[in-house]
Amino acid sequence: MRRPIVVGNWKMFTSLTDALVLSTGVRDGVEEFSGLEVILCPPAIWLTEISGVVHKSAQNIALGAQNINYLSEGEYTGEISGNMVRDVAKYAIVGHSERRKYFAETNDIISRKVAAAIDAGLSPIVCVGEKKRSDDSIKEIVSELEDSLADIKKGEYKDIIIAYEPVWAVGADIAADPDYCARVIVKLREVVDAATPIIYGGDVNASNAYNFVWRPEIDGVLVGRASLKVADFIKICRIVTEYKKIV
Ligand code: PEP
Repeated sequence: MRRPIVVGNWKMFTSLTDALVLSTGVRDGVEEFSGLEVILCPPAIWLTEISGVVHKSAQNIALGAQNINYLSEGEYTGEISGNMVRDVAKYAIVGHSERRKYFAETNDIISRKVAAAIDAGLSPIVCVGEKKRSDDSIKEIVSELEDSLADIKKGEYKDIIIAYEPVWAVGADIAADPDYCARVIVKLREVVDAATPIIYGGDVNASNAYNFVWRPEIDGVLVGRASLKVADFIKICRIVTEYKKIV
């Protein structure tokens, strides 16, 4: 049985005070959703502080980095490795469309990052998705996933989470069609393992989350903007909990 997951990607938002208020609010609000795995991905600079907040009580919240380097250490000013992240977090987002777009990350780089995360003992959350809206992009997405996982072994598929995130829906005011998402996810599942959670991301909010998570193919959601508001994020977590019937 795959676990239901809600990931909050805070991107380059929050001051330290915001981060502490947000993480405390989420910790307290999701405590009752015991079967749900909530993964908060704050800016890396706040991970240590937030790990003190969430690991105090809540058992169902884990932390993730938004990015790691594929090398374990070295003279790479400004970079953070999986070996550093693993002391404070369990997950690392890899291949987010904003990394692919603004930092020129290719599938080759991403597959090295996926391998580095696993080597460091982290679970990568691997993002894939088509750039342009279309009803015929499944081949493109499947091949992006295959290439993004080129450096890992089949036995390691259980250690990863896949996030299907159509690039045109991330940060936009339009989500993908849930039926199409389910069809994409069925095809992505053929690449990975029955045990690999596959979630959807792209303009998920408290009003549309149920459209995705009632479907058995979709194991949860990756949330950007709506993860920055405690009440909205908790509502999404409640919806996933209820539709996956895991209270
Ligand atoms: C994201 O950050 O991956 C994302 C899906 O953002 P948003 O929910 O704001 O579209």
